[in-house]
Amino acid sequence: MRCELIAVGTELLLGEIANTDAQMISLGLSELGINVYHHTVVGDNPARLTAALEIAKSRADIIITTGGLGPTADDLTKETIAAAFGKKLYMDKEQQERLHQRMGSRMTPNNEKQAMLPEGCEVLVNDWGTAPGCAFYAEGCHVLMLPGPPSECTPMFKYRARPYLERLCTDGQVIRSRFIKIFGMGESAVEDKLSYLMNKLENPTAAPYAKEGECEVRVTAKAGSEEEAYALIEPVVEEIRGVLGNVVYGIDVSSLEEVVVKGLVERGLTVATAESCTGGLVGKRLTDISGSSACYEGGVVSYSNEVKMNVLGVKEETLRNFGAVSAETAMEMARGVRKLTGADIGVSTTGVAGPGGGSPEKPVGTVYVGISAEGLDKVIKPEFRHTATRTRIRNSTASNVFNLIRQEILEK
Ligand code: ATP
Repeated sequence: MRCELIAVGTELLLGEIANTDAQMISLGLSELGINVYHHTVVGDNPARLTAALEIAKSRADIIITTGGLGPTADDLTKETIAAAFGKKLYMDKEQQERLHQRMGSRMTPNNEKQAMLPEGCEVLVNDWGTAPGCAFYAEGCHVLMLPGPPSECTPMFKYRARPYLERLCTDGQVIRSRFIKIFGMGESAVEDKLSYLMNKLENPTAAPYAKEGECEVRVTAKAGSEEEAYALIEPVVEEIRGVLGNVVYGIDVSSLEEVVVKGLVERGLTVATAESCTGGLVGKRLTDISGSSACYEGGVVSYSNEVKMNVLGVKEETLRNFGAVSAETAMEMARGVRKLTGADIGVSTTGVAGPGGGSPEKPVGTVYVGISAEGLDKVIKPEFRHTATRTRIRNSTASNVFNLIRQEILEK
């Protein structure tokens, strides 16, 4: 099956917002094995939307539109699509009633417009906003309309459009995936190690994807039931885990910091941070995780040498002899913050994030990450490409902190 996405919204063309709905939907369609050959973006203009629909009809089996379902005058998606497929709009009483219940006294006459739907459509009930979506089959094409705001579009795709599409392309079967999360090995190295397996797999399939500073392998199976799909997936996940070893930090988890917080809380351990080049990012990412108060004592952003010495107790001669960006300083920072806070684990970052500040001995990307705990004093030096940006270096340094906690504490 070939699918075309049409995003409707002048703000997308003006560059005011990015087409994140298209990214989310395309990812979901690839899981279903539906090919996406075209993304089209069109402004809030009926003539140009009609023209885009004519082209899409000629080359796609499925058209999914986002945006333009709201109550305002520029929300013209439903009217234009219905006309392009020779359908009339009718007032859907059930959706009208839902709108009245949801909006109460805020209901205005133009809000009613949202309950107007193309004749013969299947309503995609919107539990996350006011405008319902819909789907119909006409002229050899399945047409699905979803609302634009990502907070509505994402659940509408997952819980309304996806089951509709699964019915079309899986003959009543379900498609399920598990995601193997990897830190410390790039996509091509992962592919290299797994090519023997990926080439012989048919159901499930496995494919690696590069993510920001990380990599993941998606294992996807098609089966008669969810249980059967996961039963097919499980042995492959275990085999991949065995082949890749401890660069795998979790299955179906959202981030390294989530794994670290969960692991520390389970073990009743606490951590404190001493950050230089990451400027608080490690603490920020830890506290992004709900429940981190049970394991995070706090941190010191020690950007200057004075704070490194006066607050963390880094020795003056260490800074003089080795410099602020050195394994020795990173070690004393980690020990210092552990002592200062009484945490079980102290971690530290110091480095040259660039773009300025590099030298021949310590070029941009020279970074040290330290960890100190009972019986453990260790510093690592993550490697960065010379093209790495400041943001990339800082984010990856923070990820290295979490990975070090995982490998040195949680998996020992
Ligand atoms: P509403 O009922 O809020 O009007 P709608 O379905 O009519 O919803 P639009 O009016 O087209 O949607 O867009 C509403 C907002 O949703 C936009 O201002 C934008 O912030 C966001 N949005 C729309 N389309 C996209 C998209 N393709 N990707 C990301 N965000 C989008």
